[in-house]
Amino acid sequence: MDKIAELADRYPHLTFGNLRFGIECGDGWADIVDAFLATAEKVSAAGGGTLHLLQIKEKMGGLRIYYRMAEPPQRTWMGIDEAYYLAEARSFHVCEHCGRRGLLTYNGLLYATRCAEHAAELESEPVSPGPAITIIVDNAVVAYDPGADRFMLTRVD
Ligand SMILES: [Zn+2]
Repeated sequence: MDKIAELADRYPHLTFGNLRFGIECGDGWADIVDAFLATAEKVSAAGGGTLHLLQIKEKMGGLRIYYRMAEPPQRTWMGIDEAYYLAEARSFHVCEHCGRRGLLTYNGLLYATRCAEHAAELESEPVSPGPAITIIVDNAVVAYDPGADRFMLTRVD
């Protein structure tokens, strides 16, 4: 994923200056990154402020996107943070290598989100239970549901 110039053309409200050394994650997450950038572009265009992308990388098996905005309206911030949490949560269910459905795996040395085939290449086993990505919305804890592909209220039994 190092087509920075192409991305910059597609998302004029975002700046990619600090990403000139490339995006440090696998192509399998291209759609997840693209969805985040598309939402960030839309929210920035509507709410004002310019998003500066600092780094897009894999860390501990998940997608991390570092960014900052200079004095943006709060609504812009929230919209972009929300898109980011969704991107991070999604990354734990998509093989970073090929984009097929995946799980967080560990091989004693490193964490990686992989499909069965690419986990085998790393001699890596699924981590159980997988990571639970939660956010707070209106004072309630909501967790990412991979089946629904969105954050949903955690059931209280
Ligand atoms: Zn794979």
